[in-house]
Amino acid sequence: MRIHPLPTQLVNQIAAGEVVERPSSVVKELVENSFDAGAGHIHIEIEQGGIRLIKIRDDGCGIVKDDLPLALSRHATSKIASLQDLEQVASMGFRGEALPSISSVSRLTLISRTAASDCAWRVAADGSEQDFAPQPDPHPPGTTIEVRDLFYNTPARRKFLKTEKTEFNHIETLLQRMALSRFDIGLTLVHNQKEIFKLKPALSEAQQIQRVASLCGQAFVDNAVSIDFAAAGLQLTGWVGLPTFSRSQQDMQFFYVNRRLIKDKLVAHAVKQAYQDVLFHGRHPVFVLYLTLDPTLVDVNAHPAKLEVRFREGRLVHDFLFSALHRSLADLRPGHPDLTIH
Ligand code: ADP
Ligand code: MG
Repeated sequence: MRIHPLPTQLVNQIAAGEVVERPSSVVKELVENSFDAGAGHIHIEIEQGGIRLIKIRDDGCGIVKDDLPLALSRHATSKIASLQDLEQVASMGFRGEALPSISSVSRLTLISRTAASDCAWRVAADGSEQDFAPQPDPHPPGTTIEVRDLFYNTPARRKFLKTEKTEFNHIETLLQRMALSRFDIGLTLVHNQKEIFKLKPALSEAQQIQRVASLCGQAFVDNAVSIDFAAAGLQLTGWVGLPTFSRSQQDMQFFYVNRRLIKDKLVAHAVKQAYQDVLFHGRHPVFVLYLTLDPTLVDVNAHPAKLEVRFREGRLVHDFLFSALHRSLADLRPGHPDLTIH
């Protein structure tokens, strides 16, 4: 066979294989876009575990009419323009791949309006056809993206979807994690017309603790202390569970780097070491932790779904995390006055 370029849709479908594993991956990409758009409130509506419908509405900056076709085109982004931008990227997105990938494996409608425009505009794509001639729409300023019938045209992917309930559980867990990363944003989740949660923006510390309680349970809040450490340009804030409030699973561990939820071996190792002397063997600590550092010190372009990062100075990060956690745990001897966070 001779060499030939692949059709755009097929290229997008191949890329979708990396970032769109299941309905919750679509929700992740769309909610991250709403974060990047400066939304104050995000409304997430799901039908049938997201397999039938994922609809996300935000009140963010919107997209100008002429850019709508570009939003659905591969490698087109408003977030970076150069390698230098990439090295210090602060937005959640930058690859310009999510919308074209999702639209190649679903029926997608994008409606958006900027504050300066007197009406909203709508474009659609469904994996085979793209209707990029924008149509007017009465939508308020902000953006709505509807994703219907995920994987309807890729039966091999669709076969891997689990039950509606399992897929919805993935979405709910994901949104719990995302809600802990942006206290300033309100989030509403509706499944099959039933409201699952409605979180108002949580600006004061008391409101933030309330959000943590509603997502992680009152018991977590009652058995955790808040921490705030800074050294060498690194900052660690959040809440760590008392050693007496450990779990048999690692299901209540949230670690964010510059507001991005990540999984990292180095971080896991530092945390484990810090808790080593105070936890029984086989028990796992609970924590919600936020590491903030200069974006040039962390490479977020290490994984298509950005679940992993690379620290430029891994040793420094590891030792900082260990000593910050070790010190706060040492302060937690029984009888310590500051044992709960409220
Ligand atoms: P990326 O987020 O990597 O830039 P996406 O495919 O997710 O790529 O989105 C493409 C572009 O569409 C974004 O760069 C942004 O300009 C625009 N966009 C997507 N979602 C929204 C939204 N909710 N509000 C405003 N603009 C959006
Ligand atoms: Mg994006």
